[in-house]
Amino acid sequence: MKLVSRAAWGARGYRLPSGATLYSSSRRRGVKLHYLGTAYSDRSHDRCDDYVRQLQAQHMDGNGWSDIGYSFLVCTHGYVYEGRGLRRRNSANGNTTLNEQDYAVCLLVGSSGLTRPTDAQLHGARNAIDYCRSEGPAGTWLGGHRDGYATSCPGDPIYVWAKKGAPRPGATSTPAPAPSEEDDMEAFDVWAYKGKDEATDAYAYLRGTNRKVDALLTQVAGLSAAVQSLASQLGDDVDTEQVVAAVQQAIRDAVIQVDVDITGTQTA
Ligand SMILES: [Zn+2]
Ligand SMILES: [Zn+2]
Repeated sequence: MKLVSRAAWGARGYRLPSGATLYSSSRRRGVKLHYLGTAYSDRSHDRCDDYVRQLQAQHMDGNGWSDIGYSFLVCTHGYVYEGRGLRRRNSANGNTTLNEQDYAVCLLVGSSGLTRPTDAQLHGARNAIDYCRSEGPAGTWLGGHRDGYATSCPGDPIYVWAKKGAPRPGATSTPAPAPSEEDDMEAFDVWAYKGKDEATDAYAYLRGTNRKVDALLTQVAGLSAAVQSLASQLGDDVDTEQVVAAVQQAIRDAVIQVDVDITGTQTA
C-alpha cells in the first residue's frame, strides 16, 4: 500500500498526536466509503496533498472539527492518505454512534467533474479497507455513508462497488444482492440533519433537490402557457377553461409523481 503518513502530506500539527478522540472500544464493525460530494477535477499527483491539506483546513476551521473528518483518503493515483488514521474516531459517518461503528475511507471523487473512481484508486481503496481490517482492527462489514444515514454519499459507482465486496479491478467476483427496500427505508427513518457534522453532503443533497424543483417549475410554467395558447386556438365550441383545468390536473398529478421521485431517491 502506498501510504502517505500525516507527516508526509504535511498535516497540521503532525508532530503531535491528532486531537481526535480515541475509539472507546478496540474493534470496528467495518468500513464505510465516502466521496467528496462536491465538484472535483482530477489533478497531477503533486497536487493531491494540497487538496488533502485544504480539506483538513475546511474541516478544522470551517466545521470546527478536531481534525480532518476521514480515517483515510485515497487519491486517483492510488495513494492512501492517513487522515485520523487507526484507533481515532472519525467524524464523517453522520453521528457519534456511526463514527464509532465503522472506519471512514474517502475516495477523492466528486459529485460532478470526476465522478468515477480510477482503477488505481480502487486498488488504493481496497488496500485501505484491508489495512483497516487487519490493523484497525475492523470486521468485514463494508458499505457506504448512505447505509443508515440519509445522504447520496459515496455516489452510485463507489457504492455499487462496495456492495460487490470491493473487488480489485479486473478480478472476477460474484455480485452481492442489491440493497433491499428496507435498507433504503432505514436511511430515511434515521434522517437527522446534524448541521456542521454533515455540512458538505447535506448541502450537496439539498442543492441537487432544489435544482430539480427549479427545473420542474420552469417546465410546468412553460406547459401551462402552451396549453392556454393551444386551447384558445381550438375555436368557440370548446370550453377553454375546462381544457386548461383538465391539463392542469394532469400536470399536478405528474408533479406529485416527480415529488415522490425526488424524496424517494437520493441523487445529489
Ligand atoms: Zn460521506
Ligand atoms: Zn494523487
